[in-house]
Amino acid sequence: MTGRTDPAGPVVYKFGGSSVGDAARIGHVADLVAAADPPPVVVVSAVAGVTDRLSALVRRRGAGHDVSDDLRAVALRHRALAEALLADAPPVLQRVAAEIEGVVDDLLDETRAPTPGSAEDGDRLRALGEDLSTRLLAGALEARRHPVRRVDARDVIPTDARFGAAEPREGDLARAARQRILPALAAGEVVVVQGFVGRAPDGRTTTLGRGGSDWTASLLGAALEAREVHIWTDVDGILSGDPRAVTAPRGLDRIGYEEAVELAYFGAKVLHPGAAKHAVSRGLAVRIRSTFAPHRPGTLILRERWEPAGVAAVAFKPGVVLIQVRSHPSAMPYGFLARVFEVLTRHKLPVDLVATSHTSTAFTLDGGADLERAAGELRVFADVTVRPDLATVSVVGHGLLDEPGIVGRVFGVVGSTPVHLVSQASDVSLSFVVGEPHAPGLVERLHAELVEARPVGSEVAP
Ligand code: ADP
Ligand code: ASP
Ligand code: MG
Repeated sequence: MTGRTDPAGPVVYKFGGSSVGDAARIGHVADLVAAADPPPVVVVSAVAGVTDRLSALVRRRGAGHDVSDDLRAVALRHRALAEALLADAPPVLQRVAAEIEGVVDDLLDETRAPTPGSAEDGDRLRALGEDLSTRLLAGALEARRHPVRRVDARDVIPTDARFGAAEPREGDLARAARQRILPALAAGEVVVVQGFVGRAPDGRTTTLGRGGSDWTASLLGAALEAREVHIWTDVDGILSGDPRAVTAPRGLDRIGYEEAVELAYFGAKVLHPGAAKHAVSRGLAVRIRSTFAPHRPGTLILRERWEPAGVAAVAFKPGVVLIQVRSHPSAMPYGFLARVFEVLTRHKLPVDLVATSHTSTAFTLDGGADLERAAGELRVFADVTVRPDLATVSVVGHGLLDEPGIVGRVFGVVGSTPVHLVSQASDVSLSFVVGEPHAPGLVERLHAELVEARPVGSEVAP
């Protein structure tokens, strides 16, 4: 215990689900956190697989099933983790086991309320993963006799009431976070907070959307004027290619903010797009690190651009839908795009890629989005085609508009694969849309052509 905070601001750590995937890993995270000096703020995701399981449970409940047994199974899994983790500290184990039981019992009581299937019901249930994982980590620190304070995210992440995709209210957030977290840090305590979870103005639990713990870390980092935010995950920083497609991607020492945001938007799950954008706008220093190789520096996301320019990474995003909208021949040519985007804005549908011609526009959206009503409104003034099961493939770097021959090299690799849309809105990325099954192979070949062909180290600034 140090009993002091760093004058340059605290460090915020965020551990993803795979970093707390089993008892040994939670113990390892507790060791890592206990070794940090001064004590960090620690944002924790749900244990690996738990949010998926809770989401399935939410769907079952929406379909009218009783989910009490499923909730008890989630409690049992956490109890087993606590037993393995805290075997040497029986009093801590007893307390954590009672906490797990208490949290799940409260939830079982609440689920008797007649709101199954509502978005708010879903958030209350999905928050359970982080409500429990934070108790395990705090228990592990306590068992190591390390001073720790659990702060409920509901008290420091005020949001609006858009359940499932809540927007933080940052003014209130900064006040609450400083008030509740800084005194604990000053007293030498590690502060453990749930990622992903927040609270609506009327007190109900909200969540920030899947992968939202990164956003929690960035929000707290900005509120506390953190020196750095470290996103600890299961890979060695940001890689030059998505490991689902590329066998041996390179770890990037550093990457510019714009490229990091672009990669996050175009499928590199390692960083939540909202978090990347938030961190950029607040000028936060963010480092992506491997929980399993903590001696390595990982990737630093730089505030400024750096030279030399070139391709940094290749990404892909499956599960994308392409909407093609063609104006009726009798329609006036002006105002068409504005009408299309007015409908999308009203339905809060975020567009990824766009291409337009005189009479048509085509754009991509995440497949999970509810498109039916918006498509119906577009059909009032245009012909609409919806193509599911596509993927975006993106080459990300900077100076790409000035990179000689880049387009030729990319489409040389694409060859005869059918492409449904091409988009290059800036010099940071070049993206196109293909059938989902084609994407991993193309990413692998683009990585070989654009990254592996480049000498190692040429991406590092002098
Ligand atoms: P966490 O549980 O730590 O939040 P995620 O699963 O959300 O972890 O994100 C980490 C994963 O992101 C990695 O395991 C990797 O498969 C995936 N990923 C995709 N593209 C990239 C990339 N370019 N660099 C690093 N990881 C990537
Ligand atoms: N547990 C949440 C999810 O799986 C939030 C996160 O992991 O960032 O989406
Ligand atoms: Mg994640």
